[in-house]
Amino acid sequence: MAEIEAVEVTRSYRMDGVSVDALRGVSLTIEEGDYAAIIGPSGSGKSTLMHLLGCLDRPTTGTLLVGGRDVGTLDDSELAELRNQTIGFVFQSFQLLARTTALDNVALPLVYRGVRRAERRKRAAEALDAVNLGHRIGHKPTQMSGGEQQRVAIARALVGEPSVLLADEPTGNLDTVNGDEVMGILERLNKERGVAVVLVTHEADIAARARRIIRVRDGLIEAVAEAPEPS
Ligand code: ADP
Repeated sequence: MAEIEAVEVTRSYRMDGVSVDALRGVSLTIEEGDYAAIIGPSGSGKSTLMHLLGCLDRPTTGTLLVGGRDVGTLDDSELAELRNQTIGFVFQSFQLLARTTALDNVALPLVYRGVRRAERRKRAAEALDAVNLGHRIGHKPTQMSGGEQQRVAIARALVGEPSVLLADEPTGNLDTVNGDEVMGILERLNKERGVAVVLVTHEADIAARARRIIRVRDGLIEAVAEAPEPS
């Protein structure tokens, strides 16, 4: 079963009686263990698409299946539950709590899931290990480099054991060295754990690392480029 399957999905926003068609009929499949990059100009619909893939929103028309469930038929709490079970989010701006240790930042999603404290700390420490920050669990984001902060954010996304990681410009605030390191970690999680990675990027060399590049334009998928199979 595909992780995510979108069939002729549209999303229109209505503002002051005016309708904006952000997505105009997008069909897309994210397979288990996939690695896809979404590119396209500003305003083309990338964020709208990521919000839909991440169960933060529902299509206006069309069908969106996440983990085999039809998003359009779920109420808000069912959608939130599906999102928590399936999706991890990574943002350009990290979105960490500045005065909270790495361990507590990473453990936070488990609080909302009712996981007990000792178990939360154990799982958060494991997730920080997985991003090579096992030695920094007591540090706060203010004491860390941008690359380290993004790795904490990846650990937080990972701690709920999602099958899909959605990353919106994950290297957008990082220099090349830190950006490379973050990409290396996403790729290792993809290879070793089979977590599907879908990222949005403006950087051609970042996009080129994915197995598939999806180019969005004016609310439509304009082109899909598959990377050549490694020989
Ligand atoms: P991108 O991420 O590629 O920049 P977006 O998905 O953010 O594109 O936006 C696609 C289109 O939808 C744009 O015209 C944008 O102005 C519009 N849009 C996005 N979000 C909203 C919203 N919440 N309300 C109204 N219009 C929106």
